[in-house]
Amino acid sequence: MSAVRTPAPRSVDDLEATFRDRFDAAPDGVWFAPGRVNIMGEHTDYNGGFVLPIALAEGTWVAARRRDDDTVRLHTDSPDVPDPSASVHLGELHDGESVGWASYAAGVGWAAAQRGFDVPGLDIAVTSNVPTGAGLSSSAALSCGTARAWVDLAGWSLTDTEVADLGRDAENHIAGAPTGLMDQLASVCGRSGHAMQIDTRSVEITQIPFDLSAHGLALLVIDSRAPHALVSGEYAERRRSCQEAAAALGVPALRDATVADLDGLPDLLLRRARHVITDSARVEQVAALLTDGSDPRMIGPLLNQSHLSMRDDFEITVPVTDLIAETAVRAGAYGARQTGGGFGGCVIALVDQDAAETVAEACVAAATAENFNEPASFVAVPSDGARRIS
Ligand code: ADP
Ligand code: MG
Repeated sequence: MSAVRTPAPRSVDDLEATFRDRFDAAPDGVWFAPGRVNIMGEHTDYNGGFVLPIALAEGTWVAARRRDDDTVRLHTDSPDVPDPSASVHLGELHDGESVGWASYAAGVGWAAAQRGFDVPGLDIAVTSNVPTGAGLSSSAALSCGTARAWVDLAGWSLTDTEVADLGRDAENHIAGAPTGLMDQLASVCGRSGHAMQIDTRSVEITQIPFDLSAHGLALLVIDSRAPHALVSGEYAERRRSCQEAAAALGVPALRDATVADLDGLPDLLLRRARHVITDSARVEQVAALLTDGSDPRMIGPLLNQSHLSMRDDFEITVPVTDLIAETAVRAGAYGARQTGGGFGGCVIALVDQDAAETVAEACVAAATAENFNEPASFVAVPSDGARRIS
């Protein structure tokens, strides 16, 4: 069997049938929002730096129907959540009080109410082909797909950034996930054939041409399927270290410092800050290479440098992602790095299209030989952001 298995799209007909089954009526429409993968710039977002995500072809389909009360009824076919059906009254949602997976969808209604909108209830059925908890932002696919649906059905006039912001507020305030805005901006603003260079301080987005297939290349995503443990405490420690480093340097955020400024900082803070500053700079370097028409193979070494920076300076890689990144390069990738918040999740590898299978197989062999979970690989294609599809 092939080691590269790109998830099949979900059937809109099946989703509509599920919706009718659950809610005894046809949906008003179906929306789709993608997951995302970050090409460069990890933990730079809360330091005012740059990130470079792409929206995936994989994502979450949301069938929705407007109600004339303030109830939100939800159903998911995901096997990963304990309770696939939920019902919440919008008035019962409160900042900091999660209602499980439904928070990511119903929380959008809470966020809209905070902005003074009159928020109708919805019936919602979702299906997704993004793995949950793998660092591909199934959460933003759900929150932003729901946000698009709500905005359209309620007739609110919002910019893309404001739609993404509704998704982020749902995640931050109701789901209790302290994300930056990258995931939601990527899911809403993605463009086929492009990566988005996002300045997380100004929230300015520059669409960067990223058409690897024109160069015979592919971006292989290798999901380590490593169990996540102790992640939230580790994230909190990284944020704190970055704040301490910025304070010690007398700058508002690490965005405002250079590597040359770091001499004299205690070793731990120096390494944390060095990762943030160099990874943000690597975003600009990758974006420049992709924009000036260089061969995209030239970004390979920058991917490798980013992985080492996360491994040695920021200390957010784990043995299995180190092994996968090293194995991918040994098997022919031009470069590879862990992507996402860290402590597991996915590795991306830049490969010749016809080497994708060999690289993915090598990663399976290396990981299983060390008794890690068997990694799952697919080829990521930069795709369009959240939209109505029926
Ligand atoms: P990631 O965003 O990297 O996939 P998160 O932990 O941020 O990981 O989000 C995963 C959570 O989002 C799940 O545990 C679940 O609560 C929710 N979720 C995502 N997709 C779905 C879905 N299709 N159906 C139900 N819940 C989902
Ligand atoms: Mg998430």
